[in-house]
Amino acid sequence: MGNMPQSRDRRLENLNDTLRRAREKSRFYARFLPDGPALRLRSLDELRRMPFTEEPDLSLGIEEFLCVHPIAVARIVSLQTSGSTGAPKRIAFTDADIQSIVRYFSFGMSQIVRPGERVMICLPGDSGYRVPHLLSLGIMDFGGFPTVYGPISDTDDAVKFTANLKPNCIVGIPVQVMALAERCAEANRVPRPESVLLTADYAASSLKRRISEAFGCRVFNHYGSTEMGYGGALECSHGSGLHIRDDDLYFEIIDPRSGGAMPPGQEGELVFTTLTRKGMPLIRYRTGDFASFIAAPCGCGRTSMRISSPWRMRGNFLQLPGRRLTMPELDETLFSCPQVMDYSVSHASTPRGDLLLNLRVWASGKFRLSDTSKLKTLVEDILPDCVRVDIKIAGADETSPGLLGKRLLGTVA
Ligand SMILES: [Zn+2]
Repeated sequence: MGNMPQSRDRRLENLNDTLRRAREKSRFYARFLPDGPALRLRSLDELRRMPFTEEPDLSLGIEEFLCVHPIAVARIVSLQTSGSTGAPKRIAFTDADIQSIVRYFSFGMSQIVRPGERVMICLPGDSGYRVPHLLSLGIMDFGGFPTVYGPISDTDDAVKFTANLKPNCIVGIPVQVMALAERCAEANRVPRPESVLLTADYAASSLKRRISEAFGCRVFNHYGSTEMGYGGALECSHGSGLHIRDDDLYFEIIDPRSGGAMPPGQEGELVFTTLTRKGMPLIRYRTGDFASFIAAPCGCGRTSMRISSPWRMRGNFLQLPGRRLTMPELDETLFSCPQVMDYSVSHASTPRGDLLLNLRVWASGKFRLSDTSKLKTLVEDILPDCVRVDIKIAGADETSPGLLGKRLLGTVA
């Protein structure tokens, strides 16, 4: 499969090759990377000398980044940038890049699913060469049977589909799979999968626990993005962090203000460099996602570096007096309440000048009005005294943000 951890030498060789090709062939990197011996690194750590690539840089167009003739591009993916300037960012992949993605998916899924088993893929992207398609190719590669269901917008329909397909594994978006798992548990006769793989959004440990309990199965977490070639890092069965896809990617965790390296255990911004990408290599790309390195060896024996579960900083924190309130903190607290299925947040100032946090909560049928005050206490416990909390329960006819797509706290302070 070629996806076992490579030696540092091999990775350094690939990194130097990437730097050389980017400097020679990409118009963007020709302007920013040094020339001559300064481009030849003697260790992976020396990559720190190179400049960052920022998300808005990608709006300059793939022509600036391509390292192959345009005819060699097999697939271009357009993404909306998170900024307000509007120009989409586009990522180009060659056939070799796509094969590398499929290989990684095959390696990752073969850790979770055995040949002959069924996988239900509940992810968006119905056109060719998006994640469901590439994941299917990876699963078929080792003899698994993938079925693409798509994102779960109608939980009852997904329960019926699950009952018919009897998947051994379900791959999907955290809040959507949690709704499916709990509805399946209520429906009683629906066969339970043996594993769940969560991706495309942050998965709090309280949420993972609820899926694990509802299905009675193992729950794995995956992190990735289009820029990094979809696959980035995957949890092993020891559940203590995500193993990095280190054949193909070099990760750094930096202080977002100074750009300096953060020590293991301390959270910072994830930065990656592609090591094997042919069409459009990216060097020191700032993801805007936050995580920390885990230094302790993993019980599974693999030596690849691990990271904590990453979360997207932009749009996902509120600036409170004295500190930030982040989406992982709110997720952990709210999803620890068994009836909470999803939520959204907005904030305002009270006439007295206090901060008022307005929580809109999507609750299951078992939620009682008396649970609202318990929930309020839970949230107030993680907040400073000067923050007031108001909780409104969303109506049964309102669609929750998690069923519509990626959740955001909705406010950037
Ligand atoms: Zn492990």
